[in-house]
Amino acid sequence: MKITIVYDNELRKVGLRQGWGFSALIEDAKVSPLLFDTGADGPALLHNMKELNIDPQDISTIVISHAHGDHTGGLSEILGINRIAELYLPSSFKKAFPGRQVTMVKGPAQIRENIFSTGELEGVEQSLALKTDKGIFVLTGCAHPGIESIFAAAAKFGELYGIAGGFHGFHSLEAFRGLSLICPCHCTKYKQEIRDSFKDRTLGCGAGLVIEL
Ligand SMILES: [Zn+2]
Ligand SMILES: [Zn+2]
Repeated sequence: MKITIVYDNELRKVGLRQGWGFSALIEDAKVSPLLFDTGADGPALLHNMKELNIDPQDISTIVISHAHGDHTGGLSEILGINRIAELYLPSSFKKAFPGRQVTMVKGPAQIRENIFSTGELEGVEQSLALKTDKGIFVLTGCAHPGIESIFAAAAKFGELYGIAGGFHGFHSLEAFRGLSLICPCHCTKYKQEIRDSFKDRTLGCGAGLVIEL
């Protein structure tokens, strides 16, 4: 499984645009590409996709973690180009998408082979649990429900291996202790503390970063 960070507050590849927000593409031999969140700015998202050789029309599934603009900002641009993608939205999401296949996610759900949603936690946000050869890799938007409850929900799909995404103001760093890979992105407030606490396991996030699992 391959995860490409398409949109982030920081950059890992020259030529991409950075911005406050998050978006990641998940590719796997078994399923067609899945986009998790869409950043804040549509043109910047599309620019980064072009630079990363990602064809927006190839995306079969779009999962939105939660209804904040820094995760949904590029959605209408993508949907303007891509007519086929199915949407998986947290059930608190208000906007309707007529003519689209939309699943409103409340409880834990399988989205594609090896790709699961934790379900909408705390009535606000869903995270992904990706089943890889190394274990469960968790992908978060902002982690507003808190990393502990996200881990508890993701652990139902297997043993946790790692995590990437926005961790917001989460500061109970012991929660990361059992993991082999920690990639703090986007709104993570305590990036430096995470890096200092887990030097050998922390990966610097940014648009253009590719994680192969
Ligand atoms: Zn955010
Ligand atoms: Zn948020």
